[in-house]
Amino acid sequence: MHQRTVPCPYFAPQRIEEALEILSKYGKEIRVIAGGTDLLVQYYDRLYEIKGWLDLKNISELKKIRISRNEIEIGAMVTHTQLEKSEDIKKYFPVLSLAAADIGSPQIKNRGTIGGNIANASPAGDLLPPLMAYEAQFRLLSNRGEVVVPAEEFFIGPKETILKTDQLLTQIILPLPHERTYGSWIKIGKRKALVIATITLALVVKMAEDNKTIKDVRTCLGSVAPTPIEIKEIRKKMVGEKFNQLDFNKLGQIVEDKISPIDDIRGTREYRKDVAKEIIINALEEIDSAWWRSYE
Ligand SMILES: Cc1cc2nc3c(=O)[nH]c(=O)nc-3n(C[C@H](O)[C@H](O)[C@H](O)COP(=O)(O)OP(=O)(O)OC[C@H]3O[C@@H](n4cnc5c(N)ncnc54)[C@H](O)[C@@H]3O)c2cc1C
Repeated sequence: MHQRTVPCPYFAPQRIEEALEILSKYGKEIRVIAGGTDLLVQYYDRLYEIKGWLDLKNISELKKIRISRNEIEIGAMVTHTQLEKSEDIKKYFPVLSLAAADIGSPQIKNRGTIGGNIANASPAGDLLPPLMAYEAQFRLLSNRGEVVVPAEEFFIGPKETILKTDQLLTQIILPLPHERTYGSWIKIGKRKALVIATITLALVVKMAEDNKTIKDVRTCLGSVAPTPIEIKEIRKKMVGEKFNQLDFNKLGQIVEDKISPIDDIRGTREYRKDVAKEIIINALEEIDSAWWRSYE
């Protein structure tokens, strides 16, 4: 006897408003799909059942990077390749551009999107520490209205976010950094190609007018906790200090003491703690040399 198959609804609207309408009508019954590089792997692994699809591929509004006087808005469907190649991203947010360049393979970079990386909320998502370090905010839209949330409030656990089933992540908003902002991106993984991160670091340091005193700093790590995290103690220790008087080793130690990563196939807890200390020191050294170059 043949089993009757129920058709799975598939929508590919051209406008955000239509997408919101579909989400409000179907809610939990439908799954948003962007590049599909996370979702399809999970679907084929039968991690869950999907009853219908809302494909964002035709919404051109979500594929734009827009720059204004104070901020840049990145559409959720902007791909990793677009992020890597964008001159504006390279100029103002080099750490984000480098992180996008480090993702998977060319095929994954061409399909995978910033919105998918965020909404998937893997603790190893490469774009998440840079976005936190640049103080990104996420615009979430639904038929109930708009909410703009800071990146650090969005992630609540591995693959868990505050996103409701009727909400769409539409844009990522980044305030344009002022001059004398320095950054470093480090990704440690096991394989050469298609590396899933064992640990990642995005460090962004802003200097005061004198270009010597630290005005602000964000030290954001991936794969050391259930969500990407900022080590706020580093901020407390560094702000107001002269950069050339910092003790890099001490700062590395603070990070090592502060994190409590898990053991998994990609690395033990102890290994991750040691590596975290090392990469903080390396990142500070990298910023140190960029900072010296700014005097040349
Ligand atoms: C071989 C391989 C290598 C990879 N390497 C890396 C790597 O090096 N680094 C890394 O970080 N990731 C890597 N990934 C994971 C993946 O490619 C990225 O996370 C990618 O950014 C996901 O984007 P996507 O558009 O494909 O998302 P999708 O798979 O389409 O969606 C992911 C999730 O986000 C939701 N979603 C997507 N867009 C929205 C939106 N606008 N609003 C609301 N919800 C949304 C979907 O419903 C789904 O739950 C790899 C994946 C593969 C298969």
